[in-house]
Amino acid sequence: MSPSNLASVAVGRPVRGEFTYVVPEGLSGRLSPGQRILVPFGRSMSLGFFLGPATPPPEAESVKLKPIMKVLEDSPSLPPDLIALLRFAAEHYRYPLGEVIKSALPPGLTKTEMEKEAKPDVQEFAVALVTEAPAILRRAPAQSAALAYLLAVGGRAPLEEVAHAIPGARETLRKLVERGLVRIDEEVIAPGVKEGLGQGRPAQLTPEQDAAVKELHTAIDTGGFQPFLLHGVTGSGKTEVYLRAVERALSHGKGSLVLVPEIALTPQLVGRFRSRFGADVAVLHSALKDRERLFHWQALRKGTVRIAVGVRSAVFAPVENLGLVVVDEEHDPSFKQEDKLRYQARDLAVVRAKQAGAVVVLGSATPSLETLENTRRGRYRKLELKNRVDDRPMPTISLVDLRQERPREPLAQEEAPILSAPLLDAMAETIAKGQQVILFLNRRGHSTFLICEVCGTSVKCSECDVCLTYHRSQNRVVCHYCGVAHPLPDHCRECTGPLLKMGVGTERVEAEVAERIPQARVARLDRDSATSAERLTEMLASFARREIDVLVGTQMVAKGHDFPGVTLVCVVMADTSLAIPDFRAAERTFHLLTQVAGRAGRGKDPGRVLVQTYNPEADPVKRMLVHDFDGFAQRELERRKVLAWPPYTRMAAVRLEGESAEQTASVARQLGDFLARQMPPASWGVRLLGPAVAPISRIRGRTRWQLLLKAPTHAALAPLLARLEMKLVDIPSAVRVTIDVDPAAML
Ligand code: ADP
Ligand code: ZN
Repeated sequence: MSPSNLASVAVGRPVRGEFTYVVPEGLSGRLSPGQRILVPFGRSMSLGFFLGPATPPPEAESVKLKPIMKVLEDSPSLPPDLIALLRFAAEHYRYPLGEVIKSALPPGLTKTEMEKEAKPDVQEFAVALVTEAPAILRRAPAQSAALAYLLAVGGRAPLEEVAHAIPGARETLRKLVERGLVRIDEEVIAPGVKEGLGQGRPAQLTPEQDAAVKELHTAIDTGGFQPFLLHGVTGSGKTEVYLRAVERALSHGKGSLVLVPEIALTPQLVGRFRSRFGADVAVLHSALKDRERLFHWQALRKGTVRIAVGVRSAVFAPVENLGLVVVDEEHDPSFKQEDKLRYQARDLAVVRAKQAGAVVVLGSATPSLETLENTRRGRYRKLELKNRVDDRPMPTISLVDLRQERPREPLAQEEAPILSAPLLDAMAETIAKGQQVILFLNRRGHSTFLICEVCGTSVKCSECDVCLTYHRSQNRVVCHYCGVAHPLPDHCRECTGPLLKMGVGTERVEAEVAERIPQARVARLDRDSATSAERLTEMLASFARREIDVLVGTQMVAKGHDFPGVTLVCVVMADTSLAIPDFRAAERTFHLLTQVAGRAGRGKDPGRVLVQTYNPEADPVKRMLVHDFDGFAQRELERRKVLAWPPYTRMAAVRLEGESAEQTASVARQLGDFLARQMPPASWGVRLLGPAVAPISRIRGRTRWQLLLKAPTHAALAPLLARLEMKLVDIPSAVRVTIDVDPAAML
């Protein structure tokens, strides 16, 4: 058999490796790499992806080769540079290639059907044909209201929006059309994309922006892989730098890929891209419908849309002729996917840029230590924005030492208060000036645990090794790991003693603000209140319209928001994220505190930040107080070096989970022994930690164990992981084993 008769195929099934198939005569000449095909696999048919010609396997095996049954599309869904990236991901993260490809494609393309063309949406716009209401409308108040609305928003608005603002507007507008005062236009729009609330192009860049933009322009003009870190303090105008770089890439006919942590939390950034580049932007977020996803994929693939802005999975968007990759807030933990293909999108973005010969910009006010170390080693070039736009000052930050500053006299409830006098005074003062407050606490619920006053037993989940959180709005205790909820117990199960509500959550902070500052309009933003993307958008919009004075929330309030009315940010408890048993706890604390502090003083009024803490001496707390990121990073990097943690070590976590505690423990030991026997020579520096019970020893009734592998380079780990993967075939299926390469969370 000649090699051209053989095809290498990734099968869309959870199986390792590439498979060889025969190309039947009728299909030869019709195949190109990246095409979706249909192949026999096992006893049934399966979706496959043609990767290229294959080299013939040994004689004996060639006999059994099966033919490709069908080609499902004329032009390949997967462009060549994406195939290269997906191959890398499968290899690096130890995940079956076919499954990797399936997770990259929109659901519409993972079925074994012929490709369908996704249709765009049509949106109706009402356009005013006059510049003021004529006299004849005086006796038609509804019509004059609808027209007034249109004129107030610039003479043109989506019909849907007018109908939303004014009840019955559809009918009213029809009457206005009859009078020749309004026209209805139909426009083709990309589905799932709403008009963005944009901001104009600033007349002038700041000198620092200008310098950064110049360097990026030169890099884009030259072409080729060039990685940059854009380290800019909060409010320094990083987005404008991205926009100018995207413009430059477009001027060379090149596409751009922009990754952001969470679209719903960054509507302003998306709005700026939409208002600058209009329909040339595909917005890829997790709430898209299947059909919308398919539409964007096809538009990008055809090159009719050249910019993709999206969340982590957008790293796989088929942008044509890629010239620029941007990762905004590159330190954000949401770039790591925590199930199935456990990839880090920021890392894959750099790999993709390298493979495509593109410029890549990683932007942040608090870069990850991994990125910082790459910059220190000269792998990435650093661009710095040390000042805020318009010479606005950085917020002043002060500490409230909770060991000295007892919160004011008990409330008319059983719990001790949590808001100290300086916090309450500052909040009242800010609200009196008509300005806004953000109150940050990274814990949901009312009380984070219940403890018996007599015997000290805490109320735990029966299925998980964690304490239950009390949610007052539901009057229930809830497990934040498995979601189980029970009515609030009225006494201790062990000794019938009374239960104390301990550990503060956002729900309780909200209640205390309402009680202490009755004149304040308070709202809470966390996963319990923002139950849908729409609800979240609505809350953020309402805060932006200043209908809310105090916004209490979890890290959802800390993200890249730009609310000019916010002049006070309070951190209710800086210590919550410090105590987590994870080597990244200090880094994460520093990031969170700096990000949330960065929400203050972004408008014309200067901002201030108050941080309540029991640990005023903790390094991240002390350093963020004086905006000393470099000092913090320096010290933290030294500590990581001494303790051999990333970025000085590459890691892989092997996690086990099983119903039976004995069986899981025994498999963990078995894998531990296997790895110990397979260890490469000591000079490679590979180390095995464990097996050990995971820090959270049980979730959903399943016992958890883990093994950690550390090595100076990923290359030293890779062969060991490959052998481990083969070994997993022998493991009883009752114990689930996952390999997490470059793990983010240690719990
Ligand atoms: P960052 O992402 O660095 O926190 P943003 O990109 O959100 O900052 O910019 C902060 C604010 O400054 C935004 O409202 C933005 O529109 C505005 N801005 C950015 N660049 C300029 C400029 N050159 N002149 C005036 N305003 C600017
Ligand atoms: Zn539970």
